[in-house]
Amino acid sequence: MLYLSAFFYLISLLCQVGAAILSIRLIKHTAYIYRWTWLCLALGLTLMLGSRIDSLYKVYLSDHYMLTDALLSAPISALLLIGIMGISKIIFKINSNNDFLSALSQLDPLTQCQSRTEILFRIHEEIKRSERNNRPFALMEMDIDHFKDVNDKYGHDIGDQVLISLSRNTKDVIRTIDSVGRIGGEEFLILLPETDSKQATEAAERLRAQIANVTHANCASNDVRITISIGVTVFYPDKYPQMLTDEISTEIIKQADMAMYQAKNAGRNRVAMWSQRPQQNYSRFADMKDPDQSF
Ligand code: GH3
Ligand code: MG
Ligand code: MG
Repeated sequence: MLYLSAFFYLISLLCQVGAAILSIRLIKHTAYIYRWTWLCLALGLTLMLGSRIDSLYKVYLSDHYMLTDALLSAPISALLLIGIMGISKIIFKINSNNDFLSALSQLDPLTQCQSRTEILFRIHEEIKRSERNNRPFALMEMDIDHFKDVNDKYGHDIGDQVLISLSRNTKDVIRTIDSVGRIGGEEFLILLPETDSKQATEAAERLRAQIANVTHANCASNDVRITISIGVTVFYPDKYPQMLTDEISTEIIKQADMAMYQAKNAGRNRVAMWSQRPQQNYSRFADMKDPDQSF
């Protein structure tokens, strides 16, 4: 009976050690605000180990044992361990589902560039970072020229391939610290941290040239090629002293959009830099037709 009691106490002790370890592991894997719950549980279980060790010690020292207590302690601790194992499994499953959902919400499913939500979030964060560091950043809006014609001529699937190729080529041209996000059908925002007007214009021009120079898809032995129009604006933190981050974000996206339409109106396949006055300083290309006379 003595050995039987010691055996059950030992089983109970092992189960409680396992439960305490699992609770400690859960502290790390739970959202910050819930960590205290696992911390309390881990602490409680660790303290309970003391009573198990005490029971075992008494059996060892004085041959004193309580069989009922020993018999009950093993299943109680085993059930506790099984319960905590179940909760751990649920939490790990929730965490992995959350990671999956968060990855889904950050990516545009067709082009695998950032989603609208994600690029808007990054712009928001970049405004705050730029204000802290007092450094400029650039924002571009790019739009495919006459994309409707591509769909009409080659079909929607080829149009989709073009969008995928555009996204891939854009990622190849921009730096790793830059972000590209799809905000609409064939409209993209590109965020360039730590970039002034000159660098932004050069980057936009490099991108425009790259997109115009590659074949984006093949259809019935036709090379599908496109051009893009790009509007650029540069955020200098001292220019918006009284505005909230959301207001600045809306304002600079509007500026990039207006500049992009200036590029369209000027004949497409070109880059336009936003300024308060109507632009003269967009880039022109010899092969362009219909440059708008008002520019
Ligand atoms: P512009 O040079 O003025 O920009 O002319 P556009 O034809 O590109 O502009 P418009 O806005 O008239 O057409 C955009 C087209 O983009 C219309 C739509 O068929 C196409 N489009 C939008 N989303 C998708 C998409 O996910 N896949 C494909 N294949 N086409 C799309
Ligand atoms: Mg378009
Ligand atoms: Mg468009």
